[in-house]
Amino acid sequence: MAKIRLGMVGGGIGSFIGPMHQLGAQLSGRFELVAGAFSSDPERARDAGANYGVAPDRCYAGHAEMIAAEKARPDGIQVLAIATPNHLHLPAALAAIEAGLHVMSDKPATATLAEAEQLRDALAAGTSLYALTFTYSGFPIIREARARIAAGMIGAVRKVVVTFNQGWLANALEQAGNPRAAWRMDPSRSGVGGCISDIGTHAFHLAEYVTGDTVSEIVADVRTHVPGRALDDDANILMRFAGGASGVLASSQVAVGERLGFTLQVFGEKGALHWHAEAPETLRFIAADGAVSLLSPMSPGLLVREPLPPGFGGSILAGFAVQYRDFAKAIDGDAALIGTVLPGIEDGVRTMRFVETAVQASAERAGWTALA
Ligand code: NAD
Repeated sequence: MAKIRLGMVGGGIGSFIGPMHQLGAQLSGRFELVAGAFSSDPERARDAGANYGVAPDRCYAGHAEMIAAEKARPDGIQVLAIATPNHLHLPAALAAIEAGLHVMSDKPATATLAEAEQLRDALAAGTSLYALTFTYSGFPIIREARARIAAGMIGAVRKVVVTFNQGWLANALEQAGNPRAAWRMDPSRSGVGGCISDIGTHAFHLAEYVTGDTVSEIVADVRTHVPGRALDDDANILMRFAGGASGVLASSQVAVGERLGFTLQVFGEKGALHWHAEAPETLRFIAADGAVSLLSPMSPGLLVREPLPPGFGGSILAGFAVQYRDFAKAIDGDAALIGTVLPGIEDGVRTMRFVETAVQASAERAGWTALA
């Protein structure tokens, strides 16, 4: 099968997520990174291109230049991957949609809710497919958890507890020249949320993805602990789900000692599920008869089988590989994968509504607030 030609904006040298997109796309077996606008500095963009193995004449200084030049080539890019700070997600996606390219964007969809809604409108008016790499929903064992709940194996969901804790922003790294911290705590580049946008969105998305339910109202306490910081670094949210479940979401980037404190617990009327990102291939499953099992991607009786090598299924790369593979299937005609197993623009709008509602409701001490 011919490889789908991918261009990337962002993901320059030293970036975290750019290499994950390239490697995940490559591991899916369906994509090849052939062009990029990896940095706004032309020299750095070329250096990054050399690292990625992209030809120098296909390394551009910006997404607009890349899209225009690639459009003129018979072998131009077909998909744009977006791996920049948040404020560039919307303009890059809009330019791609206008050029008829498909878009594989990193989360959050945009910097604000209004932008996410604008993007949804542009997608509705165009022909491009759009998916969002909420990476953890590409993990095979997370998909198993989702399938078990959908199959009624723990009964109706009563309680959801989700945490995403990190400690790397416990000090004001953004004021000490750390570029990865600087944009995250700058409202003009991160958007309305800091921690809640950066990792709270992962937690919110996972809670809805695995339960198959939607959060209908929240009580939010979104705070900033580090002096002088412009955005939040800690968020605690009570949630009520449309299906009746209660929920708690705790997310922090000042949780000293935590690197990937991402956990999900779902308690149903009959059984329960527990997952921790530090044992990412393992799902602790409590069945209706009380039997406890530790499921892995090799366990018998799984509802979801992913053809991944042993040991591979719990890495962030596996999430990217699975999601790029699903995106290729969507491009090949199975567009219904988007918005079901593969996050799409509706997930993007919902998560941005969560961020904005939580930040505003917390500032106003509003109590229970609808996620309309
Ligand atoms: P980063 O700071 O490590 O890298 C950002 C990159 O974007 C840098 O290489 C920078 O040079 C480049 N860039 C900045 N402005 C640019 C421009 N105008 N044109 C081209 N490139 C430009 O950030 P990161 O951690 O890689 O995060 C990037 C995005 O990925 C963010 O939206 C973030 O939320 C998301 N992210 C997702 C996950 C996940 O698990 N899916 C994990 C981390 C980050």
